Amino acid sequence: MADCLFCKIIKGDIPSDRLYEDDDVYAFRDISPQAPVHFLVIPKKHISGPAALTEEDEKIIGKMMRVGADIAKQEEVGDAFRVVFNNGAGAGQTVFHIHMHILGGRSLSWPPG
Ligand code: 5GP
Ligand code: ZN
Repeated sequence: MADCLFCKIIKGDIPSDRLYEDDDVYAFRDISPQAPVHFLVIPKKHISGPAALTEEDEKIIGKMMRVGADIAKQEEVGDAFRVVFNNGAGAGQTVFHIHMHILGGRSLSWPPG
């Protein structure tokens, strides 16, 4: 999508601190980290958010989770990390290209705010 920030990051039109890339997914550090380790995993396909997922997207979401867990291991967060998808402005979604946050490297309280 032409005016989507994360589509531009995938294309390389906007620079990012890339952690992983393949034909399906792209992972990069969050520009405003909320924990010592905070990165995003996104599909290369533009999907606006969790509520817009269709059955054909199920495989890619599973891959995002697996890739994210592999990166968390490389980033040495141990077995303590949080996975977050925000859906909708009311839940804090600001970029409308689906993204999985992974946060770790500090103690994480529950429930989240
Ligand atoms: P949301 O609030 O939509 O769940 O998460 C969007 C995330 O994208 C935020 O954590 C924000 O810091 C991050 N972000 C926004 N713009 C950029 C950018 O240009 N580069 C990177 N690396 N992260 C960004
Ligand atoms: Zn997009």
